[in-house]
Amino acid sequence: MAEFSIIDRYFKRTSNTDVSLGIGDDSAIVTPPLTQQLVICTDTLVAGRHFPLDTSAHAIGWKSVAVNLSDLAAMGAKPHSILLALSLPTVDHDWLAGFSQGLFACCDQFGVALIGGDTTQSTQLTITVTALGWIEQGQAITRAGAQVGDHICVSGQVGDAAFGLQHLGYPLQQRLDYPTPRCQLGQQLKGLASSMIDVSDGLAQDLGHILKASNVGAKLSLDQLPIDASLKKLDLRQAWQYALAGGDDYELCFTISPQNFEKLSRQQLDVPLTIIGKITQQTGLLFEYMGEISPLHVHGYQHFA
Ligand code: ADP
Ligand code: MG
Repeated sequence: MAEFSIIDRYFKRTSNTDVSLGIGDDSAIVTPPLTQQLVICTDTLVAGRHFPLDTSAHAIGWKSVAVNLSDLAAMGAKPHSILLALSLPTVDHDWLAGFSQGLFACCDQFGVALIGGDTTQSTQLTITVTALGWIEQGQAITRAGAQVGDHICVSGQVGDAAFGLQHLGYPLQQRLDYPTPRCQLGQQLKGLASSMIDVSDGLAQDLGHILKASNVGAKLSLDQLPIDASLKKLDLRQAWQYALAGGDDYELCFTISPQNFEKLSRQQLDVPLTIIGKITQQTGLLFEYMGEISPLHVHGYQHFA
C-alpha cells in the first residue's frame, strides 16, 4: 500500500479545531491567535526503548500524543495541534487501525488536531510527534523561577508507571500505557506557579532540572510522596525508588509560593495535588523522612548512560 493511501485511510479526517490548512499540501497552515505565543515541542518514541515491544498499537498511539501534550502542559500552554512522523517496518493494517484510534482518542480528549506529518519505511518502529500550543505573551512557566520558601508540589501519583513496567498485566500498567497529560492543571497554574516541569524521567531528576535552572536547592519529604497503594505494600526504600527514579509518570511538578497555593486551592482541579517539599537557598536536593535527613541516593533515566 502506498504512503498516500495510508495517510488517507488512517490519518486524514475532519476536525473541529481551528486549522487554516491541514493534511494534504506541502505544509500545514495555522493562524496564531493575536497576543499569543507559539509553544512547540517534539518527542520520539522508539519501539523497545520507550515502550515494551508488545505494547498495544492503541496505547502507542495514545502515548505518542500524550507525552507531547504533557510537555506543553508543563509550560502552561493550551494544546492546539500535532504533526506525526511515522517510521514503520511493515504496513500492518490492524496495527495502523489501532494506532490511529489511540492517537485520535488522545487528540479528541484534549481538543487537538493532527495537521501533518511524514510516513516512511524503516527497520525500527519509530514515532515522532511534534505538538503546537498557545500561551499569552510572557505567561509561560519555565524551569527557572523557583523561589526560596516556595512549596514543591506534584500532581497525581508518582512511581505508578515504573511499577507498571515491572509488573505488566497489573492495573498500574494502565498508567504506563495511557499517561494523562495534565493540560488543564498546567493552564490553571499560569500566574501562580513560579516554575514547572513534567515528570518524565523520574521526580528526583526532573526536580533537579528546576533546581539547577532556578539556582536553588530543595528539601523533599519522603513521607509526603503521593504513591499508589501497590507501592505502599513494598519495602519503603523500594517504593521511594519507584516514586523518585521511575520515569513515564507525566505528572506536573511545580513550585509555588504559599500565598499562591492558597489561591490555587480555592479553584476546582481535575487532579489531586500534594506538597512534597520546600525550596531552599542551599543548593542540592535533600531528603527528609519524619523530619529527619535521610541519606537516600536516586537516579533517573538517562539515554546514553
Ligand atoms: P511531501 O512529500 O511534500 O513532504 P508527503 O507526501 O510526505 O509530503 O505528505 C503529504 C501530506 O500528508 C502532507 O500534508 C503531510 O503533512 C501529510 N502526512 C504525511 N504523513 C503523515 C502522517 N503520518 N500523519 C499525518 N499527516 C501526514
Ligand atoms: Mg512537498
